[in-house]
Formats: sequence, C-alpha cells, structure tokens
Amino acid sequence: MRHIETIIVGGGPAGSTCAGRLKAAGRDALILDRAEFPRLKLCAGWVTEKALSDLELSPKTYPHPILKLDIKSHLPFLPFALNGLPTGGINYSIRRTEFDAFLLERSGAEVVRHDVKTIRREGGRYIIDDKFTCDHLVGAGGTQCPVRRKLFPANRNRKRLIATLEKEFSYPARSDICHLFFAYRGLEGYSWFVPKGDGMVNIGLGGKSKYFKKSGTNIHDHFKKFIGDLVRRNLIDRQTADNLGETGHPYYLISYDGEIKRENAYLIGDAAGLATTDLGEGIGPAIESALMAADEILGRGVYEKEAVSAYSFAGLMKLLAQRILAPQRPRPRDLHGPESFAAPR
Ligand SMILES: Cc1cc2nc3c(=O)[nH]c(=O)nc-3n(C[C@H](O)[C@H](O)[C@H](O)COP(=O)(O)OP(=O)(O)OC[C@H]3O[C@@H](n4cnc5c(N)ncnc54)[C@H](O)[C@@H]3O)c2cc1C
Repeated sequence: MRHIETIIVGGGPAGSTCAGRLKAAGRDALILDRAEFPRLKLCAGWVTEKALSDLELSPKTYPHPILKLDIKSHLPFLPFALNGLPTGGINYSIRRTEFDAFLLERSGAEVVRHDVKTIRREGGRYIIDDKFTCDHLVGAGGTQCPVRRKLFPANRNRKRLIATLEKEFSYPARSDICHLFFAYRGLEGYSWFVPKGDGMVNIGLGGKSKYFKKSGTNIHDHFKKFIGDLVRRNLIDRQTADNLGETGHPYYLISYDGEIKRENAYLIGDAAGLATTDLGEGIGPAIESALMAADEILGRGVYEKEAVSAYSFAGLMKLLAQRILAPQRPRPRDLHGPESFAAPR
C-alpha cells in the first residue's frame, strides 16, 4: 500500500484548490479522481470575481477564453429586463472542462485515476481500497462523494434540493449577453443563457426538486419549452434548436446539514453541500472551503461550515446586500473587445 500524508478524493475546483495550497506549503498531497481530465462537468460556468481572487487568478493570465458577463435578469411580471444579476461584483464565464483541467494541473499535485469504493480507518490512518493510506483524507468528490457516504453517518441529512439540466454547444452567432429567466413558466428556480468567450454557449435550468414533484411537471418538458422561448427571442436559431437532440441528464445539487469534519477527514465543496440555495453558485464555496480545510491540515486555522461566506451570518448578510445592491455594469462592447480575454493561440 502506498502512504501519502493527504489524499483528496475528487479533482474538481474543491480538490485541486485544496491540493494546490498543500503543495505550495511543501506538503505531500495526492488527488484520486475516477475521471480522466479534461472531463465533462455539468455547469453553466459562471464564476465570480471573488472566486478568481481566492484562486489568485487573473482573467488576463487565465490561458483559456474567459468572458466578462453582461447580465440581463428577466422576471415574469416585468415587461423589460433588469441590468445585472443579484450577484454583485464582476462575473465571468468559463468552460468547466478547461477551467477544472487547468486548476488541476496548476495545483502541482499528482493525480491518479481511481474510482474510490471503500474507505476504512485503522490505527489513525485512512485506508482506501487497500491501495492507498493517508493521515488526512479530504472528500471533494461532489454530490456523490464516497468520503461523505462512508465516513459521515449524518449523510441521512442529505436532501435532493435542486434538479438541473443543461446543454453546452458551439454557437458563434450567439448574443454576448447573459440572460437569466427567473420563475420561468412557473418554475421555482431559474433558466440561463450563458455565452462563453469562444463562441460557445451554455443553456440550462435549475428548479427545486420539490417543485417538480408537487406540480407534476417534468424538467425535460420545461427545458424544451425554454429552448422554444430562446428561439422566439432570437437568442438561438430554429435549426440549432432542432439539432440540440436529447437534452442532458438531470443532476441534483444537495443540501447537507451534517458534519463536515470528523477526526482527520474533511468534506469540501459539493461534497459538503455548499452550493448556495438561491442561485446554485458552487464554484466559489468549493474554492473557499478547500482553502480553509487545507489551512486546518497545515495547522493554520479551523475549518467550519459557518466560516464559508455563504454560510456565516455576516457573510450571508454581505452576500444578500451585494445581491440586492448589485451595481449596473456596462455591457461588453463585443466578444473580442476589452471585456473578454481570448486564449493565446
Ligand atoms: C447544471 C449545473 C449548473 C451549475 N452552474 C454553476 C455556475 O454557473 N456557477 C457556479 O458557481 N456553480 C454552478 N454549479 C455548481 C458547481 O458546478 C459545483 O458546485 C462545483 O462543481 C463543485 O465543485 P467540487 O469540486 O466540489 O465538485 P465537482 O466539480 O463535482 O468535482 C468532483 C470530482 O470528484 C470526482 N469523483 C466523484 N466520485 C468519485 C469517486 N468515487 N472516486 C474518485 N473520484 C470521484 C468526480 O469525477 C469529479 O471530478 C452548477 C451545477 C450544475 C449541476
């Protein structure tokens, strides 16, 4: 069996960020991920200024296309769109397939492709599939994280919270404006049209799982109607809509009220149910929680869910204030103008 000081299960933004901080402090960290990177990750790819700053990443030096978003929010009872999103700050769009692979490589950690099945604790160490042992184990395996399932009995508290469906495709003729449709056709949630910096676009919707159950409506039907509405608004053309084929598979964001730390095991990012329940923002909390868990392993701090900004009272008030008082942002002039950064070719 191979021994490593810290093993991180999952190489998404949470796992790679945690590994990066440990490696930067000269510590030993190994990432296990069942997927080969670059891997597909369902996500609109909207990322906040704060998340980039936590990553010490500038849009100018990010090596892939990144687009500063000009957001229009549509509400069912308003005949016009509002400028901006209730998010405050500057927002960008990235493609997760590129972003996650970039962060993983940048972390400097060794990555082993391995689907984690069994975890047990013996003599103060964690043993994974009788192949790896470690002193610290970080669960960054997303909503289905095996670390949470095996080591955190409070996982009964896990609830399916938000069901989502999305599609990302090349559409160079797209509008560069990001559109969000709240409570679209009665949906308890929102739908999005998020342009990317390289002619791609991501469309999707997310709604409360309870709403679909209660209303007897189907997420796929909602999605089809949404595509029809995008055609009517000239955001995509009919031929593209007809060629989109089968819609993606539904995916659930969870809420989790249980422990996020137990002995030397930590849950971060989606594994800890940290995506915000209003907008489903999970990249920022994944990064923030990863840094805090790494700091605790390094003996520099204490990892607590309440300290992640969206969960602390002060952080929540700040987030709400930002979201309500979001400043109006000027719209980007064009895709390749000063507001977007294309990858160097
Ligand atoms: C449709 C949709 C749209 C979204 N849009 C946004 C958005 O625009 N902005 C935003 O901030 N958030 C968004 N989110 C939320 C965001 O995607 C997540 O919160 C974020 O990916 C969490 O990162 P993570 O590193 O915790 O987990 P993940 O990115 O899910 O990474 C988990 C990793 O663990 C690996 N893994 C899982 N099980 C195992 C195992 N048994 N063994 C080994 N490896 C394993 C997986 O392969 C994966 O690579 C969206 C979510 C969905 C579903």
